[in-house]
Amino acid sequence: MKIKAAIVPRMGDDAEKDIVVETVELDEPAYREVRVKIMTCTICHSDIHALRGEHGAYDGPGIAGHEIAGIVDKIGDGVTYVREGDRVLCTEIRAGCGTCKPCLLGQEWFCENIPPMSFRVPSPYTRLNGERVTQTCSGASGFAEYTNAHENMLCKLDDDIPFEIGSALACGFMSGFGAVLNRCKIKAGESFAVVGAGGVGLSAIMGARLSGAVPIIAVDVMDVKLEAAKKFGATHTINPKTQDVIAELKKITGTFAAGTGAGDAYGVDHCIVAVAGKTIKRLASDLTAKWGQTVIVGHELWENEYLHDINAMEYLFGKRITGSVMGAINLRRDIPIYMDYYRRGYVDIDALLTHRFTLDNIKEALEDSTKGALKNVVIIGGNS
Ligand SMILES: [Zn+2]
Ligand SMILES: [Zn+2]
Repeated sequence: MKIKAAIVPRMGDDAEKDIVVETVELDEPAYREVRVKIMTCTICHSDIHALRGEHGAYDGPGIAGHEIAGIVDKIGDGVTYVREGDRVLCTEIRAGCGTCKPCLLGQEWFCENIPPMSFRVPSPYTRLNGERVTQTCSGASGFAEYTNAHENMLCKLDDDIPFEIGSALACGFMSGFGAVLNRCKIKAGESFAVVGAGGVGLSAIMGARLSGAVPIIAVDVMDVKLEAAKKFGATHTINPKTQDVIAELKKITGTFAAGTGAGDAYGVDHCIVAVAGKTIKRLASDLTAKWGQTVIVGHELWENEYLHDINAMEYLFGKRITGSVMGAINLRRDIPIYMDYYRRGYVDIDALLTHRFTLDNIKEALEDSTKGALKNVVIIGGNS
């Protein structure tokens, strides 16, 4: 089927600046795949990293977009979860098979039968000049009018949830919010910090507030993001450009902690690090109390994330470092809960959405995203 899609002719540095909307051929959905008519796709910084080749080097043309919401347009053989006309979100993380040992243990990420993410090279998209297009994020692409997706990448979207909210749920929101609910498991009154107050960090703040964390401390180098953090529930903000982060944070947590005199032991009970790079991970661990937990969410290339300066003695008394990919969620258990939180006003996902663009204006949408916009929406087929 001929459709419109936004393609970068060659992946690499600043590739997003060359993105063009053109007609491409989309293959028919394969076994257990669904063709989704895309209504909205929100932009994630991972899209830009991927198009620049920072998630792995590819030579040829590429297509991105992985925060997808739309309508099932056609089902391939073997599909049982959805029917044509169903409203869905489509995400990189996949529902597990539900029958293998990891699935039964609640560890769908390690499903033996359905890998949680799989890069499909080549993709089902072909340019009219015959070049196959690489999908940069997973087995679906959102910067297009249609995508094919394995049915286990889908979660049904309730009728009252706008498509753009479905898109935001599909990665940015779940990555921050889910990390807090599924990894931190905050007890009311515990302290929380997030390093990096972009879309993921702000979603983490929403999770911390809903969990009853106090104080909630946002750390970011951009004042505009720290202002946003306050609106989402941060009680304190720290800008490393003008403040000594560790001293400030220990002052805050020392004030809130019962008793005095523990001095250096203080830090936060839970610290989410939503920024890439190893030096930030070191900082986040230093902001975490000696009994606390650091949860790694932001990341870049494997070779840039080695933590060489960890001393085992730091962790002897129970301090922990763990991580969370895509909020460590169980797709079809957690998304319905998040939809209900949204519906009841427990989380303000609308406030994460910065500006709306059309597919034809995707270059501007990406450019705006690189300048600190929280989450831009590309409205492709409509948003109701
Ligand atoms: Zn994303
Ligand atoms: Zn399984």
